[in-house]
Parts: sequence; structure tokens; C-alpha cells
Amino acid sequence: MNIHEYQAKQLLAKFGVPIPKGGIAHSKDEAIYQANELGGDKWVIKAQIHSGARGKAGGVKLCSSHQEIEEMCGKLLGEKLATIQTGPEGKLVSSVYVEEPSAIAKELYFSIIMDRASQYVTLIASTEGGMNIEEVAAETPEKIITVSIDPAVGLQAFQARQLAFGLNLPTEALNVATRTVMNCYQAFVQSDANLLEVNPLVLTEDNHIVALDAKMTFDENAMYRQAAVAELRDTTQEDPRETNASQHDLSYVGLEGNIGCMINGAGLAMATMDMIQHAGGEPANFLDIGGGASPERVATAIEAVLADDTVEAILINIFAGINRCDWVAQGIVDLLAKREIDMPLVVRLSGTNVEEGQRILRESNTSVITAETLADAAEKVVAAWKQATGK
Ligand code: GDP
Ligand code: MN
Repeated sequence: MNIHEYQAKQLLAKFGVPIPKGGIAHSKDEAIYQANELGGDKWVIKAQIHSGARGKAGGVKLCSSHQEIEEMCGKLLGEKLATIQTGPEGKLVSSVYVEEPSAIAKELYFSIIMDRASQYVTLIASTEGGMNIEEVAAETPEKIITVSIDPAVGLQAFQARQLAFGLNLPTEALNVATRTVMNCYQAFVQSDANLLEVNPLVLTEDNHIVALDAKMTFDENAMYRQAAVAELRDTTQEDPRETNASQHDLSYVGLEGNIGCMINGAGLAMATMDMIQHAGGEPANFLDIGGGASPERVATAIEAVLADDTVEAILINIFAGINRCDWVAQGIVDLLAKREIDMPLVVRLSGTNVEEGQRILRESNTSVITAETLADAAEKVVAAWKQATGK
């Protein structure tokens, strides 16, 4: 789950991370109000969307008058802003963050990630902030500092200091930088984040350290114990296909192909994707119905797969342990009784109550194509998709 920059900054500030003063605004009037609250004669206006690279897309601007603030708000609010990260369709700007400007001496890079390869939380820092860190990593890897944290021990002060030293900071800024790293780590761990990126982390001309930008993403499976974080969710910024599925407690992953997949369990999802590709097709998505899915839940899940415009054929592949094949079959039949599905639907059931499930499908007189094995199912769905679409 993502949150906005201003929300990430407010969260970090609670952990003692220095951020510039600022306020959120949903209209021109509010933006002027926030500018007046901040005082001064210059303000940074920043479009709040779930994306980075806003600066290059015209979403970040230093304004020197109320008129400029109003112009910037007029350009952004209620409009879509497209960055290299959002793709050409862009994301809706519903609010702008009004900030006091910082006098930047040096832009640095700092992030905390969950490194799945080493299974350690890893801190990454670089003197080359403000730009695309992937480019820095590719072209000048020696400018990237990484520190791995053993989760059983946590971040040690010496490690934070080591990182701060690597950033070539003036002596006056070293202590604050070290503390900022430690505080960011606390914010990351205590809020079940899986990414925290401050790009740029700034050294100001008077040797202060501030988080000028902030991005945080969180582990959705932990939201049950992170009520305050869960409240920050902004579904207008998400893929509507995924939001719809998560509202029904289904996990959904959107992909690029044309074959919609409904499965149970992530392992089976992976195997199903592989078999579809092996058979010459491309999955459009996969939707995991989880365990013990009722017929109603199965029907809702198929509807969610159908709601994806890119889907041109559907494969339902269930290996029932806690699930029941008869419930899955009943869900399919119930849905088909309610609505027509004008595309091939291949169903492969295996496991608990499979005979009963197959009987329900057989006796329903629907156009469902049944399959015995996973390979058989993948071949049938790809063949039926090719036949139906002529691709
Ligand atoms: P992003 O483009 O979405 O990553 O947005 P950022 O918040 O990182 O802002 C982009 C760039 O705008 C930064 O790298 C800075 O160079 C510049 N910028 C943002 N805020 C300020 C500020 O207060 N003062 C100055 N001088 N530059 C700023
Ligand atoms: Mn940035």
C-alpha cells in the first residue's frame, strides 16, 4: 500500500525525522491560506499523487507570489499528472502540498528496503540524490552505500554513523544525519513498511538535514494492526481492478496478457502462469480466492476477473484442500445463471469433493470447458482463446 508524500512526511516527523514546514491544500484558497500560515515570500507547491518524478513532469514548483500559487493550483488540481512512473494515463491530483522552501547545499539519497535476497532490511544511501537511483547504481555503483540490518539485532548506532560518514557530510551535520537514519529505521519497522525512500535527503546551506521528499509503502498483510496507516489509503490513486478485489478481501494482481486466472494460493498461481505461457498464452491477471471460498465468494471473484477489460478468456484452476470443489462449481454455475460470459471459460478442479464439483458442472448445461490436469487446462484455455479471438 502506498501513501502520499505529505502523509509519509507527517509519519516520519512523529519519529523525529526533520521535515520542512508545510500544509496540505485541496483548493486554491486553501493553498493561499497555507502559504499565509507559513509566512515568507516563497513557497514550494507539490502535486500529491502516488508517484515520484513529479518534478520533471511539472508537479513541483517554487512560487514567489500568491498569483503563481493560484496558477500552479489551477494547472494541477482536478487534473491528471503523468510522470514516467505513472505511465501516459497519469494520476489524479486532488491535493497539493504547500511547503516552505529549503536552501539546498547538497541533495542526497537515502532509502530502506526489504532485501528479499539477503532477507535483511537494507539501508541504501548515496551522495547522488535527487536523481534516478537506478541510473546511479548502473553507472557509478561505487557511489552507493548499503548497510544490511540483522532483524534480530536491529539497526546499531555504529551502522547509522557509518552510513552518515559515507555521505561526506560536514561535521556539524553528522549527528543529525545519524539520528535521522535511526529514526527512519524506527518509522520503517514500527509501521510495517516495506519501503521508505527519501530522495532527496537534503543538506541545507546552514548545515541542517531535512527530508525534502518521502515515499513509503506498507505491507498490506500488516494493516490489521496498523489502523493509523491503513487510514491513509487513497484508493483514487490505485489500479481500480486491485482496489475492487481488495474490498472483497481477494488478492488480485494485474498483468499484461489476455487470459484471466482464478486460482487458490500463490504457488498454484505461479505454476498456472507458467503453464499458460508454456502453452503460448499470456495471463491478464491472477486472482487468489484464498481458502474455504463460498459459492458467493467464487462468483464475486469471477466478476472481479471479468471486470478487467483486457480479459478475453478465463481459466479457473482450483486445487482444493480447505476449499471445496463443489462450492467452487456452485459459484460458477450460480454466476452463469445470473449473467452471460461471452468468452471461453475453462475449469480445472482437483481435491476435496472433486466428483461432486464435476457433477455440478456437467449437469449445469453451461458452456464451461472442463480440464483434468493443469497442463490440459492451460492448453485448452489458450486454444479456446485463440479460436475465440483469432489471435
Ligand atoms: P519528485 O520529482 O516527485 O521526486 O519530487 P521531489 O520532492 O523530490 O522534488 C523534485 C526536486 O525539486 C528536488 O530534487 C529538488 O531539486 C526540487 N525541490 C523540491 N523542493 C525544493 C525546495 O524546497 N527548494 C529547492 N531549492 N528545490 C526543491
Ligand atoms: Mn523525489
